[in-house]
Amino acid sequence: MVKIGLEVHVHLNTLNTKLFCSCSSNYEDKEPNTNVCPVCLGLPGALPVVNERALTMAVMVATALHMEISHILSFSRKHYFYPDMSKNYQITQYDGPGSTAIAYNGWIEINGKKIRIRRINIEEDPAKSIYPTGSILTSKYTLLDYNRSGIGLLEIVTEPDLENPKEARQFMEVLRSILEHLDVTNFELEGAMRADCNVSVEGGERVEVKNVGSPKDAEAAIAYEIARQNAALRSGVKIRRETRHWDSIRKVTVPLRSKETEEDYRYFPDPDLPPYYIPHETIDKIIKSMPELPESRIDRLIKQYGLDEYQAQVLVYQKQLADFFEEAAKEYKQYKRLANVIINEVQRRLNEREIELKNSKLSTEHLIKVLAMEDNGSISVKTMKDLIPKIIDGIDPEQYVIQNNLLIITDVTALENVINSVISKNIEVVRKAKQDPKVVDFLVGMVMKEVKKRANPKQVYELIQSKLREIS
Ligand SMILES: [Zn+2]
Repeated sequence: MVKIGLEVHVHLNTLNTKLFCSCSSNYEDKEPNTNVCPVCLGLPGALPVVNERALTMAVMVATALHMEISHILSFSRKHYFYPDMSKNYQITQYDGPGSTAIAYNGWIEINGKKIRIRRINIEEDPAKSIYPTGSILTSKYTLLDYNRSGIGLLEIVTEPDLENPKEARQFMEVLRSILEHLDVTNFELEGAMRADCNVSVEGGERVEVKNVGSPKDAEAAIAYEIARQNAALRSGVKIRRETRHWDSIRKVTVPLRSKETEEDYRYFPDPDLPPYYIPHETIDKIIKSMPELPESRIDRLIKQYGLDEYQAQVLVYQKQLADFFEEAAKEYKQYKRLANVIINEVQRRLNEREIELKNSKLSTEHLIKVLAMEDNGSISVKTMKDLIPKIIDGIDPEQYVIQNNLLIITDVTALENVINSVISKNIEVVRKAKQDPKVVDFLVGMVMKEVKKRANPKQVYELIQSKLREIS
């Protein structure tokens, strides 16, 4: 029996400022250690001021995760000595005397199973550690970048309800979709969503794998950890409580430190940030202003477009696909077919290239052109599928089919010429075809091959039949 719990950290897109200071929360392309001030560098005497937007976002996330919201906003200091935290404590929320998390007891449903969420809390991000070789194992030293230090984070802590690596990945994908719909995180920023994965197998202690950067990596890191722990137990090695690091280059976990206990952190209420009572009206106002959430969007896609549940889920759990679908659906009304092509063809091609839809040159206009050409019989199904990678590269499909001679041949004379040539080369077959209708299919195949499948097989069949009747 495997038990997996996640602590997911998400950057809060706190409208351009960090959690406790006025430095920018967007540090993309900035020189290291230029997006800083005395507060987020942790200089003595600097005073933090809490960002109101962070509270709004936390309340929205808590509501989306069906949680009970605390009416007190309070902060504690979590002490630890580590290079990425210059004041030697992190400002966070703690579930203890004088402090409370922002929300408790929620859930996310995956494949009909409720994964419980213990609590969510607001905290500040530490600095970023940079390993010059990309790997913690082979680097001789570590560089520190404080640009993201003090960015608002939401920590989302689950109960150990996940049972396998795939479930953990799905959980993170659904959570990501919820956060995207709420627009609380800028997923363009590197490290916008990271997970600490707690993994324990039967007969061993809980091991925490720190800082896993994506749902896909979470699946890989957990699978690795389960295999490692099981192998160790089989050879008689005890699994101790420890913290490990996920090396995403080498795809292994490596020991980081033995796990601290909660006492080691010496939590106490932060005297710089006294507890603040959140009025009911404030919370009600935030909840009323919330945008559409994935659950209701799935229901709406089913009702509005007649999609089946699977299609609606695949689209909504990758918000970009759902947005693209709804944009295209304004013009193209065969909704189920549109959803199928996006899910099966477009998504597959994007995955092959490991790019996201929004980073490709695909437009709804081009996709609709391709579908319309197949609908009116100008191109074959095969050509339609072959065109998808072209339009992902931004190539105009109509020009492409003309330039590359991909239009279906409907001209009877042209087809008859091909048929005559095939017949004259296969006299023996033609004789058999007159006795045995099955052999006609062979001739159809020959003609289709000759025209590189750019003909309607039914039309070719009929033309061959009438030709055979002519030949006595
Ligand atoms: Zn600052």
